Amino acid sequence: MGETSVRTVTRFAPSPTGSLHIGGAHTALFNYLWAKRGGGVFILRFEDTDRARSSIIYEESILRDLTWLGIAPDQVAARQSERGSRYAEVLAGLAALGAAYPCFCSHSGAGEGRVEEARDPCRGLPHDERRGRMSAGEAHCWRFAVPEGDVFFTFRDRLRGDMTLRTDSIADFVLARGDGSHTYLFAVVVDDHDSGVSHVIRGEEHLSNAPKQELIYRALGWSAPEWVHIPMILDNERHKLSKRGGAISIGSYRDAGWLPGALISYLATLSWSRAPADRISTPLALARAFDVDAVALVTPVHDEERMRHFGRLSVADVPLEDLFGCLGVLTQNTGTASGPSPDMLLLIGEMRPACATIDDLKASVALSLAAPEGGGAFPGADPEWIGDLAKRLYDIPREDWESESIKNCMRSFQKEREIKGRDFYHALRLKITGRGEGPPLALIMSCLGRTATMERISGAPPDASLLPN
Ligand SMILES: [Zn+2]
Repeated sequence: MGETSVRTVTRFAPSPTGSLHIGGAHTALFNYLWAKRGGGVFILRFEDTDRARSSIIYEESILRDLTWLGIAPDQVAARQSERGSRYAEVLAGLAALGAAYPCFCSHSGAGEGRVEEARDPCRGLPHDERRGRMSAGEAHCWRFAVPEGDVFFTFRDRLRGDMTLRTDSIADFVLARGDGSHTYLFAVVVDDHDSGVSHVIRGEEHLSNAPKQELIYRALGWSAPEWVHIPMILDNERHKLSKRGGAISIGSYRDAGWLPGALISYLATLSWSRAPADRISTPLALARAFDVDAVALVTPVHDEERMRHFGRLSVADVPLEDLFGCLGVLTQNTGTASGPSPDMLLLIGEMRPACATIDDLKASVALSLAAPEGGGAFPGADPEWIGDLAKRLYDIPREDWESESIKNCMRSFQKEREIKGRDFYHALRLKITGRGEGPPLALIMSCLGRTATMERISGAPPDASLLPN
């Protein structure tokens, strides 16, 4: 069957038992990209079979994070907890087909398929005995009767090709527990089928579920989706990423000033080597180029340094005026009613190439304008010319206080007094910032404003009452 004859429907199906983290966002992204590539639908579904640990707060935060990343779902499917009657209906259908049977063993409900032998003794019980024990109220779970006709069972993973295993290696797994609840394994099949899911793109930790789920599809006469099990992201010590390290949650990155474009562009490169590495891409632009067959089966390693590379690209993409807006209270005295001063924008432009996040930018702009520690960290005595320079700078009218005029003033003073350029500017920079290096000094002085600059040079404004700003 050709790809074009089936509408592409993908889903991301997290458990609402925690925040969205890097690994989940990666899976969600690939589902989004493949759906959009095919002009299809991307569904979000909360698998809340673990009622005790599931929370609507996590549902809301996962949806909020996906939306913030720019990969909001087209639909939010019903929760598994709301679909018990539908699962029961499908289970009854399987039982009628002879593909499911009640199991009365004491291990019933203890777990999913944790039996020593592949075939459960209850599989062979006569029909009448089953009916009698059930109507007598005997506790039981429901098991899937794995077909035994063939020695081998083959299913296909799109990235791995045909996968074959011995039929007798698949135990008669549990579909419904003793308490009437349905297993995750079974519920997923019914949900995916009912939503018309065409491609199940999920982490490879689910690969072992695929043959069992494929068997359920076949027993019901439903066409199975294409299985696409993508590699799991590991940390740089090649351990599974864990929620315990809170820094990997999408929300914590957002709170730390990361831009969504950086995270999306970075995540796209994990397992998809053709994703652009030299620019920030929108999810839709990525979708146009995405090919699920190009996903490599190499385990990707979460690499913060690589992510910072995309962070710097993302900050570089933001207009300077918008970055100024993000800096907030930090720069409230450096703009005018009509917006930031041109020098403030120049300063932001100077600082941003090294910044991966908005918080980085805030910190580096703040640092570049920070007063020397202890009020004036000038080593030794002030140069004898410092008072005269202060007077000359003070002669610059307030409305002309910008980097060009400051620079010209300093240059002519330095030439007149025949001070070596390096000594002059180094001494002045230390006096004003307490640091030996940083952005152009005239730019800092302009952004600080005349009053603050005077205070730092001479300890106090020449005549504070005359200085309006
Ligand atoms: Zn049994």
